[in-house]
Amino acid sequence: METSPLATINLAIVGVGKIVRDQHLPAVAGNPDFRLVAAASRNGRVEGIDNFGSIEEMLSAVPSVQAVSLCMPPQYRYAAAVKALEAGKHVFLEKPPGATLSEVEDLASRAAANGVSLFASWHSRYAPAVEAARDFLTGTRIDSMRVAWKEDVRQWHPGQDWIWQPGGLGVFDPGINALSIVSRILPRPVFATSATLEFPENREAPIAATISFTDAAGLDLLAEFDWRQTGPQSWDIAAGTAAGEMLLSQGGAKLSVDGRLLHAGPEQEYPMLYRRFAELIRAGRSDVDLAPLRHVADAFMLGRRKVVEAFHD
Ligand code: NAP
Repeated sequence: METSPLATINLAIVGVGKIVRDQHLPAVAGNPDFRLVAAASRNGRVEGIDNFGSIEEMLSAVPSVQAVSLCMPPQYRYAAAVKALEAGKHVFLEKPPGATLSEVEDLASRAAANGVSLFASWHSRYAPAVEAARDFLTGTRIDSMRVAWKEDVRQWHPGQDWIWQPGGLGVFDPGINALSIVSRILPRPVFATSATLEFPENREAPIAATISFTDAAGLDLLAEFDWRQTGPQSWDIAAGTAAGEMLLSQGGAKLSVDGRLLHAGPEQEYPMLYRRFAELIRAGRSDVDLAPLRHVADAFMLGRRKVVEAFHD
């Protein structure tokens, strides 16, 4: 679908739930590149625009839609994405971009065949200090890295059944955000060498995971994800380097080295994601980096499974 450089892009949102209300609606409202014209959701609604119960109904009723953001849980995203891409729409995929690597690769081929843009978004990569951490690590020797992503699932994902079902990723739903940052800031690709995944005896997805990674230069990288953290929450990436001890904390919001603050800034993740989506559409390009999802898949392939006590919401 042709999009002239200055025309506003007619956008629709599909899967109206928590992240749409918290982030997508305000980010789209603040971006003059987009005009939100429709939404499709079985129960959710967006005030002030046309709402439909399914993406099929929406695509046939509002042909002026040029781009769609797919914000339902990952297990249901592929079917909706195929419909949008085959109808010639540009597609923004919430993270994780799908339930499997192969289905997202199929989407990338379909986007190319239909001449539209596909954006597999990784919001944590747009946290304020991530690029500063990347610049810092590019110029030094990295000896070790420790990732601690530990939060209280009851606080952040109350009642989200899909997250505990196959394809919902369990603790990797937040953990993949850490992996999206790690795969952005490190100068070389890393790969998992061992993993332990802890599954509550009544659930089909892990509540905790520990993964060791290395790279061609022998980096010692350990990632710990845990959903049982109460009290202070941790979203930290620490690195021992020749230039000092780096700490990227608060989910990528703050960078310090040897305790000295080097970079911090206002949170702008979703506004930046929509700027990037507009840029991709105008340039006729796609951005589908599967590295974070591949690391999760590798952890599931390599991981020792440990059964732990039942989890109840
Ligand atoms: P959510 O509120 O549980 O789900 C979003 C919406 O998807 C639901 O309101 C529901 O709307 C629709 N949906 C649920 N089950 C469905 C199904 N079986 N088939 C089709 N649609 C279904 O989840 P969320 O927290 O917004 O997360 C959605 C995605 O955004 C996830 O991939 C998540 O990882 C990502 N994300 C979430 C956050 C966060 O803080 N929550 C942050 C960043 C990214 P209807 O019932 O109206 O269809």
